[in-house]
Amino acid sequence: MADLRGGIDLGGTKIQAAIVDARGDAVGQARQPTPTKGGPEDVAAAMATALREAAQDAGVEPAQLAGIGVGSPGDADERTGVVSSARNLPGWEGSFPLAEVLAKELGTEIKVGNDVQVATEAEFHLGAGQEFQSLIGVFWGTGVGGGLVLDGRPWLGRGAAGEIGHVVVKRGGAKCPCGRKGCLEAYAGRSAMEAEARRQHEEGHKTDLFHLMEKHGKPRLTSGIWERALDNGDHLAEKLIDRAIEALGTGVASAVNLLDPEAVILGGGLGVRFGERLMKPLTDEMGKHLFADQRPPVVRVASLGDLGGAIGASLLFSR
Ligand SMILES: [Zn+2]
Repeated sequence: MADLRGGIDLGGTKIQAAIVDARGDAVGQARQPTPTKGGPEDVAAAMATALREAAQDAGVEPAQLAGIGVGSPGDADERTGVVSSARNLPGWEGSFPLAEVLAKELGTEIKVGNDVQVATEAEFHLGAGQEFQSLIGVFWGTGVGGGLVLDGRPWLGRGAAGEIGHVVVKRGGAKCPCGRKGCLEAYAGRSAMEAEARRQHEEGHKTDLFHLMEKHGKPRLTSGIWERALDNGDHLAEKLIDRAIEALGTGVASAVNLLDPEAVILGGGLGVRFGERLMKPLTDEMGKHLFADQRPPVVRVASLGDLGGAIGASLLFSR
């Protein structure tokens, strides 16, 4: 059993746990909704439940695992296992010793890493990025997150590298959820796109987005709702997706100009859903800003799907 590891992907809406073998295959998995009320203790309890269920699915006890990795939003300190400012989680504005609490609860060692960085490393080791030595992971979802692998190794900077969502694509531009202006995420993040759609809808622009949302019983404009609206030729949805692609092309090309990686791996809810469909406009948009435009990086859609984050978290025990 010592070659089995646990991985937990802590998301804003769901907690995905997996038990992963030495080859990187998930041999057990479970999912819990992320608590919407309470505080970090409640989130940690739900994480422990998800992991226990995944372990049961794999036929092991959590304490038999070689360790459990956690991919966390917010500021996740790999050295201390403390997670701070995870603002999309309930009551998590401050710091919480997540690794320590989970280790007590589950009886094995816990390592904590940034959610997007570990998902990028999973794509590098096991997914769409396996043949490359350097890549940028771009996770286009509720926000826009990024991860870096350079020369075959994760690049964490001083702990906050890879924040491609906050690369500035327009000085003095739209307000970003981070509080600053003109970030990529302010144009391409799902929650920023939803806020803009709502604003324009209230101003009288016609769109079917919110009607579709209600009809399908969704609490928000999910990637599936955006896709339906595009399929129906919804003008506002098309306009906002175009705007997002323009911002993504600009921001990603700027990052490529700085690092010159071999590949860009596009993941996240929107990235996976629209990656193939919008690959041409995205790479065209990037091409406008690439300095070495005669040899652009390979752009590929992430291949590990929903389990990529949890599998990546388990890899914190093989770095
Ligand atoms: Zn920002």
